[in-house]
Amino acid sequence: MNFASDNAGPMHPSVLDAIVKANTGYEMPYGNDTIMDRVRDKIRATFEAPEAAVYLVATGTAANALALATYTNPWDTIFAHRVAHVEEDECGAPEFYANGAKLTLVEGAGAKMDPDALRQVIIGTGQKDVHSVQRGPVTITQATEVGTLYSLKEIAQITAIAKEYGLKTHLDGARFANACAALGCTTAEMTWKAGIDMVSFGGTKNGCAGVEAVIFFDPEKAWEFELRRKRGAHLFSKHRYLSAQMEAYLTNDLWLELGAKANANCARLVKGLESIDEAEIPDAPAANMVFALLPRAAHRRAIQAGAKYYLFPADASLDGPDDDLIRCRFVCDWSKPDTEIDQLLALLRG
Ligand SMILES: *Cc1c(COP(=O)(O)O)cnc(C)c1O
Repeated sequence: MNFASDNAGPMHPSVLDAIVKANTGYEMPYGNDTIMDRVRDKIRATFEAPEAAVYLVATGTAANALALATYTNPWDTIFAHRVAHVEEDECGAPEFYANGAKLTLVEGAGAKMDPDALRQVIIGTGQKDVHSVQRGPVTITQATEVGTLYSLKEIAQITAIAKEYGLKTHLDGARFANACAALGCTTAEMTWKAGIDMVSFGGTKNGCAGVEAVIFFDPEKAWEFELRRKRGAHLFSKHRYLSAQMEAYLTNDLWLELGAKANANCARLVKGLESIDEAEIPDAPAANMVFALLPRAAHRRAIQAGAKYYLFPADASLDGPDDDLIRCRFVCDWSKPDTEIDQLLALLRG
């Protein structure tokens, strides 16, 4: 019963098969493999973006940090939500790759930037003042770190404000597939048609072994990105194994199918949690993760039976009054069997 994260799950068999299939003979290294040629075409077709520059890296942190750095001067600041992965979970990688640039945090309910709050922090960041950092790109996460979603209109609102001030926009799509499946929109609608300039398109959390695509809809800085990726030690020499994963992931829209499956698994879990009287679910779960408040006794039963998931705070004790509500996070991947979800629910119910 592992609900810790969607990267705790396995690879999809067709991704593994693709790696095995790629493992014969020779292919040119460093992204010059023939599989990558097909991946580039497939991503451009999937995103209806024939001009897009497309690159692969092995981690989402590299995708975010290298993409953002490409549009951030060392004296700029990147606008991100207070609980954004780039702020809380990347050990300063965006600041490091952008050579010391700053992050400026934006508030908003449900881990979504509030448009007015964004405008205020942009205005509050001095321009043409030598003492102040300068305005850099705006990054949002879809699906968000708490499993909520920006509607297409909300994305467009954020990007419109960024554009008003001449700022680039980035979408952290570690859970892009979950978001796209939940919204039932096209990839283009969720990105460039809504004003997004660059995307980290996640594969690792949704059935791949370790691959994320970086997509720039305007290829003007493609060469610079290539130099940054190499200098940042993220250009894979045996690149064909990244390409093979991404090709399988894109074939017959496997990415979307797996994202939808993960969401459906989470919906089953949420339905069960809602039937527990004491349970509280603060943010409406819209993708494949749910944050909940549950009594200590429920956590004790589940965790002592071997269930794995995160509590907040991380060191919350299982010893103490039974009824205290403790916050936790459950994440479902595409591979989660119904029986495991039902087993967890049974333990939580007691
Ligand atoms: C997991 C995740 C990433 C990427 O994390 P890595 O561990 O570097 O692959 C980026 N953004 C969000 C929102 C994530 O959840």
